[in-house]
Amino acid sequence: MIIDTPLMSQYKEIKKQNKDNILFFRLGDFYEMFFEDAVIVSKELGLTLTSRNREKGVPMAGIPYHSATGYIGKLVAKGYKVAICEQVEDPKSTKGIVKREVVRVITPGTIIDTEFLDEKNNNYLMGIVMKKSVIGIAYVDITTGEAIASEIEKTDDYIYRLLGEINKVFPREILVDTDFYEVVKGELQQFTQLNEITVNPYNRLKNSEKFLEEYFKVISLESFNMKGKEASIEATAIILDYTIALQKGHEIPIERVKFLENKSIMELNLTTQRNLDIIATNKEKGIVGTLEWVLDSCNTSMGSRLLKRYLKNPSTCRDEIIKRQNDVEFFYSDVLKREEIREHLKNIYDVERILGKLILGTENGKDLLALKDSIRSGIEIEQILNKDSIFKIDTEILTEIYRLIDSSISPEAPFSIREGGIIKAGYSEELDELNDISKNGKNTILEIENRERERTGIKGLKIKFNKVFGYFIEITKANINLVPADYIRKQTLANAERYIVEDLKIYEEKILHAKEKIESLEYMLFKQISEEIKKYRDSLSKLAYEIAYIDLMSNLAHIAIKNSYVKPEILEFGEDIEIVGGRHPIVEELVGRDNFIKNSVILDRDKNFIILTGPNMAGKSTYMKQIALILIMAQMGSYIPAEYARIGMVDKVFTRVGANDDLVTGQSTFMLEMSEVANIVNSATKNSFIILDEIGRGTSTFDGISIATAITEYIHDKLEAKTLFATHYHELTQLEMKLSRAINFRIEVKEEGKEIIFLREIVRGGADKSYGIEVARLAGLPKQILIRAEEILRILENRKMIIEKNVKKEQLILFGELPEELKKENKKVVEKSNELEGKERIALRVIKELELDRMTPMDAFLKLNEIKRILN
Ligand code: ATP
Repeated sequence: MIIDTPLMSQYKEIKKQNKDNILFFRLGDFYEMFFEDAVIVSKELGLTLTSRNREKGVPMAGIPYHSATGYIGKLVAKGYKVAICEQVEDPKSTKGIVKREVVRVITPGTIIDTEFLDEKNNNYLMGIVMKKSVIGIAYVDITTGEAIASEIEKTDDYIYRLLGEINKVFPREILVDTDFYEVVKGELQQFTQLNEITVNPYNRLKNSEKFLEEYFKVISLESFNMKGKEASIEATAIILDYTIALQKGHEIPIERVKFLENKSIMELNLTTQRNLDIIATNKEKGIVGTLEWVLDSCNTSMGSRLLKRYLKNPSTCRDEIIKRQNDVEFFYSDVLKREEIREHLKNIYDVERILGKLILGTENGKDLLALKDSIRSGIEIEQILNKDSIFKIDTEILTEIYRLIDSSISPEAPFSIREGGIIKAGYSEELDELNDISKNGKNTILEIENRERERTGIKGLKIKFNKVFGYFIEITKANINLVPADYIRKQTLANAERYIVEDLKIYEEKILHAKEKIESLEYMLFKQISEEIKKYRDSLSKLAYEIAYIDLMSNLAHIAIKNSYVKPEILEFGEDIEIVGGRHPIVEELVGRDNFIKNSVILDRDKNFIILTGPNMAGKSTYMKQIALILIMAQMGSYIPAEYARIGMVDKVFTRVGANDDLVTGQSTFMLEMSEVANIVNSATKNSFIILDEIGRGTSTFDGISIATAITEYIHDKLEAKTLFATHYHELTQLEMKLSRAINFRIEVKEEGKEIIFLREIVRGGADKSYGIEVARLAGLPKQILIRAEEILRILENRKMIIEKNVKKEQLILFGELPEELKKENKKVVEKSNELEGKERIALRVIKELELDRMTPMDAFLKLNEIKRILN
């Protein structure tokens, strides 16, 4: 049996407590990984796999400690958890093996090294807990201290809203309570794997409320508006419990939780967020072509992050929206102030994350210098905005902090806080004295060098330094005969000899001693300064927020001017929506503002359901999405791309657009389309805004038309939500006659011979024909196919004419009254089909069509439920 070395036993003991983590085991100047950890890191990071002499055969890989952060960043980005195990004793003063402990565990959602994070994005850890009929959600960003909680109702289609929330927050890591995890595992894993989010089950906590009260030092969670919100309380508790455990006793910067009331935020479900390209979520696609791309010219990363928060959570609180609009207007109308402030903002660093670092204890000298510059710019901004309440900071306290940093931290402070060079001369007498000794000692050594050169007559005599021998005199072999008798030989090299002399050693002692003392004194002073600054965390966090807000508001004004946006009038829920000369904010950016054709819309009490027809590529989707995007921009407080607008607020925006097979795989396009529509009709209210693009395309024409008609009728009669419905089935335009609030619009195209020209103008009335073949021509299909398609079309149209002639009517009537002679016949057909298509038959057909091998257990459950509903 091979007996482990003491080191190996220590390693194994620590690894036992860190089974799920890659253990970075500190050995002198290196972090070493052993066994399977070594194999993983060598594969993931391209390190060489070796083995140590003493532990023969044990696979091992190492990283120099000073470059570890990069490697840790990469591993965590790949979803690994890394435990950092340090030597917690000074090896010099210990006998035997040095004590080691895990000082921190880093996971994807709790990275604290901000250099590996995208500065314009938050890095969130999310917790999800299910309680009876409510799902609690909480998320924190440990680098900024932001913590948010909310709740969603557990309705039948809660999974859509849950995935919608996750997509909105886009956490890197999710903890789900163990029971709920079992229920949602399928859907959650599909979604998170595609988006590279780590998900883990987490044991529920007892006494979460008490735990939070103690952590936040509050008497009651009433202070956060969370009293009685059990699910979100538990969700907050699990993520805090997890984060605290990982930080192994280090303080974390989370000081309060913000509870988001759903009713004060516009609901945007998963598909809507994606369809409208509000923010970049797809790494490959990147930011170009998103609303965030159009609107983000913020000068600080704090501003960019706040913009994203607003974009994802447009408000439904009219006062709040109007306040933001007014603040944008302030900068819109004052060019000088806007430009001056935007200029100052460029000098501001990420105060929010610097504060986070201070609290986590990972700050360095450069961070404090960045904080100092930011404070100065912050105070200058306050002076510019002197009497305006738009920017309020604690100037006096900030000035104190500025002075403290200015007097103590050297402008050349390095990244490391262990090697000196951080503290300014004049800050500490003791330090200045030590620096003197060190500096004079070095001068003295130069003097000794000169003296010895003269004494020996050796021009090439040099005093050098290395870690083993300290200072020594090096003399080449050619000059050895000139070496005086009092030189003490220390080492022989191939072509030189190394010596020492008495006084060189005395000075060496002084210098090295002073250097050591300087390093530890500077470290101590630096930490004292940080502690002092930390006391004013509230003022710093206020500064960070105020900067983010003013950056965002001045940015929105800047964008409004640059892109010719206007301020919309905001009306109460359910009131009219009128947009004159509206544009699609993203498409106009892509095709050029001058090439974009403006279009208007009115949705009011009389007409709130638009049936939009027009050929493919005419611009139907663009038109509909532009209205949805304008609503979102308006309710986040921004100006909008239009000439004039009145916006009755909406509570939710829904979109059903094209195929999104990547979201929930395993469903056919049609099935997916229908479940999305189900989600819309189940959740929309009369204050919602819905866009439906081509419903029923995934099935046969008659099926499609029937389903589309039934959905239209339902939304129109039961929900009364403002809706735009684009369709290829020009037959649907007949619904205008039947539904009082429906109105037809079409996108104008001009025909020139066989060609069509897209005018992209929305005009009253329905399209009377499809233009599929013309569009196919534009797309470059071979002539032969087009000619044949035209032939077939002619044949079909002839047949249609014959049928219509036979039923003695000019047009195939789908809606409205049938002529008398047809009514009887129709009645018979309907009765017959009723008899044939009883509930049981439908249910049977549904069962027959099931594709079991493509369904998750959850799908099967939902399907079964549906069948039961049919039968009841
Ligand atoms: P389909 O039915 O095939 O989905 P569609 O009618 O929805 O087509 P869009 O996708 O909205 O058509 O538009 C096609 C392209 O036309 C857009 O990508 C854009 O480049 C251009 N376009 C649309 N609307 C406008 C407009 N108002 N002004 C200028 N260009 C436009």
